[in-house]
Amino acid sequence: MAKRIIIANWKMNLLRDEAKELTNHIVNNIAVSDLKSVDVILAPTFICLEPVGEIIENSGIELCAQNVFWEESGAYTGEISADMLLDLGCSWVIIGHSERRYALGETNSMINDKIVFSLKKGLKVVFCIGERIEEKNQGKTLNVIKKQVEIGLNGVNNKLFDNIIFAYEPVWAIGTGITAEPEQASSVHGSIKKFISERFNCHISKIRVLYGGSVNSDNIDSLISQSNIDGVLVGGASLDKKSFLEIIKSSGV
Ligand code: PEP
Repeated sequence: MAKRIIIANWKMNLLRDEAKELTNHIVNNIAVSDLKSVDVILAPTFICLEPVGEIIENSGIELCAQNVFWEESGAYTGEISADMLLDLGCSWVIIGHSERRYALGETNSMINDKIVFSLKKGLKVVFCIGERIEEKNQGKTLNVIKKQVEIGLNGVNNKLFDNIIFAYEPVWAIGTGITAEPEQASSVHGSIKKFISERFNCHISKIRVLYGGSVNSDNIDSLISQSNIDGVLVGGASLDKKSFLEIIKSSGV
């Protein structure tokens, strides 16, 4: 069975000392046996990438940024480049998170620019997709996701699919305490995998889809046991030492 993937998205939380404390706790309490069946990836804020990166060096845990810009360098005030992230030791970057799409106006086309550029630079991509509540209620979930994927992956060679993880994050489940029904999420994951494999002509087994949206230590077992759920992207619960370690433990194959 493939390794499951657990990503902690710390969003705009934790000062450097707090991030260091949480990282040290994770590194010191994660069992070597857990990392044999689970890949763990931490996505702190930009200011915490360096200190967190130093702590996880040689631990097997990987470093992820929460955003990137699509140009090499230059007059882009407030943005961060792929080279800067690589320089800090990031191997991953989250792109297309709904908080950036809907609070900061990121479009599918901007997301595509970020994905294409990141892959070209050698960063691996966590590509977030998902529908809003009104779209779900109108039965448009799959149409919305197909459009996000179609535009987001425009120009991406399917040989690079090893370097992309998809994260299905229904927007109505993020930070709300409402989780998608595990069977329902698994069925959407199945449809996402089928669509991508047919549209981009790649083997379905290559497509990894994580679930994100109010995952916690109470609901992880029911989610991770679903055949189409390859791991989880965890926001709020990843800030809690005990919960995050329990999520990792429960995700062991
Ligand atoms: C997220 O930030 O991607 C997320 C899923 O957040 P939460 O777990 O808090 O819903």
